[in-house]
Amino acid sequence: MSGKVVLVGAGPGEAGLLTVKALEFLRQADVIVYDRLVDPVLLQERKQDCELIYVGKEPSHHPIPQSEIEQILVKQAKRNKLVIRLKSGDPYVFGRGGEEGEALHAAGIPFEVVPGVTSAIGGLAYAGIPVTHRDFASSFHVITGHLKEGSDPLDWTSLARLEGTLIFLMGMTQLPAICANLIQHGRRPDTAAAVVEWASRSRQRTVTGDLTTICGKVAEEKIGAPGLIVVGDVVKLRDKLNFFERAPLFRKHILLPRARAGRSDLAAKITALGGEVTLYPGIRMEKLHEPAQMNAIMASLPEYEEILFTSAEAVSLFIEALLESGKDNRALSGSRLTAIGKQTKEKLREYGLAADILVTRRSADIIRQACAGNWRQGTKVLLAGSEKHTAQLADELGGAAEFAALPLYREVLEAELPFDLSKFDAVCFSSSASVEHLLSVLSAEEQALLRSMKLLSIGPLTSRTIREQGLKVYREAKAAQPDSLIALLIEEAGEVMPT
Ligand code: SAH
Repeated sequence: MSGKVVLVGAGPGEAGLLTVKALEFLRQADVIVYDRLVDPVLLQERKQDCELIYVGKEPSHHPIPQSEIEQILVKQAKRNKLVIRLKSGDPYVFGRGGEEGEALHAAGIPFEVVPGVTSAIGGLAYAGIPVTHRDFASSFHVITGHLKEGSDPLDWTSLARLEGTLIFLMGMTQLPAICANLIQHGRRPDTAAAVVEWASRSRQRTVTGDLTTICGKVAEEKIGAPGLIVVGDVVKLRDKLNFFERAPLFRKHILLPRARAGRSDLAAKITALGGEVTLYPGIRMEKLHEPAQMNAIMASLPEYEEILFTSAEAVSLFIEALLESGKDNRALSGSRLTAIGKQTKEKLREYGLAADILVTRRSADIIRQACAGNWRQGTKVLLAGSEKHTAQLADELGGAAEFAALPLYREVLEAELPFDLSKFDAVCFSSSASVEHLLSVLSAEEQALLRSMKLLSIGPLTSRTIREQGLKVYREAKAAQPDSLIALLIEEAGEVMPT
């Protein structure tokens, strides 16, 4: 039996514009086949062993022929359960989604579609342009600007006569021809027009004018693909409706060095405020134990008076292994549970477990302060966490109790290139680990470049680590919390950060 292919619309760009259904599919996918305009942030939602296949093209390069993409989908569906074909905007708006659906139908492969927010509507909304409005346009028309040389298939007489908003996709190289044709066929030359580049992304740029001036302005500002061309008086509403370009972090590109694998709430907050975030380096979690080994460990749990979890990931892997070994939470009833960090405590709660002790930070001294009262000669404590942290703590905690390291995973840093440090307006360090991770993947030249950049720190401990690396903290958040770091970024953006 072959698997299923889902044609999923990724929305115009900003990751938050993905639908809930699309997100669920991305998290379950065995394979994701994606295009150039899809924001790579979305791919971070994939599960650990999901395969990625890129079928996009750079503007100047040859595209992968459509028939080849269709073959890839068919082939992958025969090997895997769930294949996601992720396309920008909506899969059926000039995305050749219909053709891919036909090919899958012909091959007898089940498929579904998850519609997306098309750039033709949602992208323009992000530029403050509503596609319809009672006073200006009672219809809108989405047209391909990809005019084949010599055989122009568009009926310009009809297009020029339409009263509604005209939206051209894939039309940037044809902009002069589009404007000239519309004027020549009778559209008023002073009809308002706009071009929106990289709509809904922090790098969005918009120029406005009318049919006679827009080409010159686009050339002057060097606006290029991907771009939306919109013709119609709705463009004039932009002054009132332009919420996105006025967002506090709009056009700010922030480097957020990663502290751990998985989603980043801080990144989501910065994006929601109009900023663009690069999470770097990538961190992959590698599970460390074979099921048989884990079963043996789970069978020995009653020996341990205390289980100390060093991270939320450790909790998930531990409980998964517990369930797989045929046991459940009841096997933990004789042990005290200690969580390092709020997220670890919350993860335990998700599994119906209340932490007995919460330790705020993963430092041997602080753990000792919180736990030493319970530790006597011979108390056995199981340290469940990453390979690095469990080894470190087993080494540093020492004393009366006996510590056994249970390394559940290893964090592997992935320095995916290309990476250009100079394009960032600021670097936000959210923990000491984020500082260490970034520095461990940067070259000597890059580290030198970091000295001239604005380094923002979440709090005193992170600042100390930054300084220990020979770098200068530009500003430190007032309270050592993510929201305080965001407040600092907004303050900076309003004052001195370049636009
Ligand atoms: N299915 C997509 C369109 C694919 S065709 C959708 O529904 O949006 C590709 C064209 O879409 C590009 O040439 C450009 O004109 C437009 N486009 C897509 N995303 C865009 C974005 N974020 N900003 C500007 N134009 C975009």
